[in-house]
Amino acid sequence: MGREETYIIPLKDLEVGTHQYRYTLDNRFFEEVEGPEIEKGDVQADVTVKKCEHSFLITFRLEGTIKVLCDRCLEEMDQPISCEESLTVKFGEDKSEEDDQLVVVSEEDGELDLSWYMYEFVALHIPIRHVHPEGECDEETAQALRAHLTFKRDEEEQTEEEQGDTPTGEEIDPRWEALKKLKDNN
Ligand SMILES: [Zn+2]
Repeated sequence: MGREETYIIPLKDLEVGTHQYRYTLDNRFFEEVEGPEIEKGDVQADVTVKKCEHSFLITFRLEGTIKVLCDRCLEEMDQPISCEESLTVKFGEDKSEEDDQLVVVSEEDGELDLSWYMYEFVALHIPIRHVHPEGECDEETAQALRAHLTFKRDEEEQTEEEQGDTPTGEEIDPRWEALKKLKDNN
């Protein structure tokens, strides 16, 4: 069995009561999840699954550090993460009942893979603006980046002006032309 199996909770097989799980979300975890925001990290996940008669309450305590790119200099920086989240899970077929807090699992599957939920909870807690502490930025990159952004803004303004002058004729995209020919031949 692959390593990813370890994040799967066998809900159907659990006895009524409380069950504890502990995971380390390390670089390999973030690589395997392939989420867009995080590629590296070291986060401890303490997961409690409480099985009731007809539902499950899963709480996640996530604590650690992830690597993100600094908004100011684009170099890697450590972002501490500390949060608590929870999910309710129930068996059923009607996925339309699902929302941010409720997950519906078919009884036939009877299990839930937690990896994507844990990833999402961590990603959710990245502050909108994240920068190195004062003085720790790579000043060279930060300056180059600022210069580049200013240059790019100027360039965009120019392009917009140019586009404004171009008459919107009935030019046909050559790709459409080719497609039309193909269709006509058939
Ligand atoms: Zn920085």
